[in-house]
Amino acid sequence: MNSNAVIAIHGGAGTILRASMSASAEADYHAALNAVLSAGQRVLADGGSALDAVSEAVRLLEDCPLFNAGHGAVYTAAGTHELDAAIMDGRTLDAGAICCVKRVRNPILAARRVLEHSDHVLFTGDGAEAFAAAQGLEFVDNSYFDTDARYRQWQLAREQQRPMLDHDGASLAAAAAAQRNAEPTPHEPIDPNRKFGTVGAVALDRHGHLAAATSTGGVTNKQVGRVGDTPLIGAGCYADDATCAVSTTGSGEMFIRMVAAYDVAAQMTYRQLSLEDAAHDVVMNRLPKIDGRGGLVAVDAQGNVTLPFNTEGMYRGFARLGGAPVTSIYR
Ligand code: ASP
Repeated sequence: MNSNAVIAIHGGAGTILRASMSASAEADYHAALNAVLSAGQRVLADGGSALDAVSEAVRLLEDCPLFNAGHGAVYTAAGTHELDAAIMDGRTLDAGAICCVKRVRNPILAARRVLEHSDHVLFTGDGAEAFAAAQGLEFVDNSYFDTDARYRQWQLAREQQRPMLDHDGASLAAAAAAQRNAEPTPHEPIDPNRKFGTVGAVALDRHGHLAAATSTGGVTNKQVGRVGDTPLIGAGCYADDATCAVSTTGSGEMFIRMVAAYDVAAQMTYRQLSLEDAAHDVVMNRLPKIDGRGGLVAVDAQGNVTLPFNTEGMYRGFARLGGAPVTSIYR
């Protein structure tokens, strides 16, 4: 039995302004991250697989409205929600993913079913929903994913006429308030008390196996049909027992172009870099070359954990067996 079992999670990265985050909002984020880490830790402590631990962690993050996945997902340019998710098993390299689903309550569970019950890896839109329905997964109306804070964020992004990473909404709201010589308040277009982010988890289980899972609503005001890095194996999610498990968050187009998650594993294989050095190179050197902003969480087969990001903040944390969860927001 591997005593280094560990789970790490993220809830998105971006321009998180300390000034616009109240103490109680901060406490809410730490509490949410802690609860999810504790749940993942329990799965691992009971001898559960890394795959089970990351599925459960991401399912809980999807149900939490603080984060941009499941309930609390961002709005598309059409005012709807389109969700993407992926999961990968480092033991077998099996993977499953879905994108552009509108009515599956927990996209990560659909991705998991694809991994376990399909010969395919990635389903999109109607086909993904038909597959999820055949698997007996729970469906909801698209409005289930609505939240007021996300709606205000979408209005702000529409004024700016561009897609926007979750947490950047807070700085835009602060800038708008500054222009009017006003303090950002909870009544600003982006409620400073509630900010959001794509979610993900990576884990090493007691049997020595790795897994990764990522789920998102994408970026605010994205065009209908746009797919980011999250559901693309190798870009937003990757796991291989031989190297590491990785889940990313950030400007998806750049993470796709850098094949970011796989690049961490590749640098460990081909350059014999440590997990930390490989992840650092991808996040701090390679992604910034094409203005790729965000971060990732990663774990290797020895239980090393790294959580690098090149933005001002990333909701993140990790928990080892028998240890208290550690959660952080800022640098
Ligand atoms: N990477 C996600 C996407 O581009 C967004 C995020 O991480 O917040 O869809």
